[in-house]
Amino acid sequence: MGHAVGDLLLQQVTTRIQQKIRKGDFSARHGGDEFVVILSDCESIKISKKISQNIINSLKLPFFVGVHTIHIGASIGLSYFPLDSLEPEELLKYSDIAMYFAKQSGRNNVQLYSRHLSDAVKYNQKVDNLLRQAIGKNELHLVYQPLFLKNKVIGIEALLRWTNEELGIVPPDIFIPIAEESLLISEITEWVLQQSIGTIKKLRNLNPDLYVAVNISVKDCLTPKKLQSNILTLLNEYELPGDSLEIELTESVFIEELGPIETLFNNLKSEGVRFAIDDFGTGYSSLTYLLSLPFNTIKIDQSFIRQSDKVKLGVIKGIIDIAKSLSMQCIAEGVETAEQKYHLEKLGCKRFQGYYFSYPLVIEELIVFLKKSINSN
Ligand code: C2E
Ligand code: CA
Ligand code: CA
Repeated sequence: MGHAVGDLLLQQVTTRIQQKIRKGDFSARHGGDEFVVILSDCESIKISKKISQNIINSLKLPFFVGVHTIHIGASIGLSYFPLDSLEPEELLKYSDIAMYFAKQSGRNNVQLYSRHLSDAVKYNQKVDNLLRQAIGKNELHLVYQPLFLKNKVIGIEALLRWTNEELGIVPPDIFIPIAEESLLISEITEWVLQQSIGTIKKLRNLNPDLYVAVNISVKDCLTPKKLQSNILTLLNEYELPGDSLEIELTESVFIEELGPIETLFNNLKSEGVRFAIDDFGTGYSSLTYLLSLPFNTIKIDQSFIRQSDKVKLGVIKGIIDIAKSLSMQCIAEGVETAEQKYHLEKLGCKRFQGYYFSYPLVIEELIVFLKKSINSN
């Protein structure tokens, strides 16, 4: 919306913060979209938490700037004098660390600083350092989980694994967000794409219609031109059609500026590449958003599949119906039991992924699995 709107929004934010603090308290913009508040003579942690919550609540209400209605949120980290430190610089650093964790646990949260947060930051830094060498040291590998249409394998999802000498096995849920914080993710994604597309080339000798689904981070979408040229170069090199690749994105793409992502979609879709929306139902799940980017596939999040109570089944049915009416495919993730499969089928779901069908497999196991499934069909 431009700098002018941004500046006016910042001014309104300032006013709202000031309205929520007391006389004698202090507030300042610390740079970018960060503010600092000092609560003097704060009698208890409870009061500081209450004031923080008040600030968050007031910033949740819409802002009106010119013709724009703007929705924002805030994350607050708290540190205490003299409990956490006597040094202003350290207190700032600690509240910043706490704020980082508040952000990570979702929007509009308050987080108190504690020693273990600093330890977590140190661990993250270690992971980041070691991850930088992981590709060169051959520590990364991919496993592939088959994707099913009824009982037939139609594709595979590439899932990243990292084993490090010092840290042992680090799950992707831990190291991907850390890689996303630094620019490391783009290097990792490039490697994952290269491996996955190489693999699907080989597997298409067994089944010429097979595709590979690759998880792409929302951070990769910030450099859409690079991502696009990586993908098209690889498909070209391996002489593969676009539809041998499906890109999985989570709903967090919707918080980025959509323009460049739309261009990425259009350019790759015109080459046949498909897009899936991952973990559907856990993020923004706005219908407006769903219509704004032409996804081919909705992946229903595992959390809906796991508990098959009436409400969850209703939500699943809703998602399946939305997919149908938008001519999108729908796949259920995390199917672990025959019972879950049965319920999903009754709701009209035909595509599945999960331990009930197959665990993620290393390439050698996958080839055996595919050969077996071809013979039995
Ligand atoms: P995701 O994309 O939602 O991947 C599905 C996750 O569910 C995988 O966990 C998979 O092993 C697990 N899973 C599959 N079937 C079942 C089931 O029946 N039950 C249960 N409980 N789990 C099942 P994994 O491999 O640990 O990956 C976790 C997440 O890490 C992925 O979630 C994805 O967001 C991220 N990730 C993995 N590989 C990559 C990658 O190459 N790039 C990026 N950007 N993210 C990745
Ligand atoms: Ca995925
Ligand atoms: Ca998922």
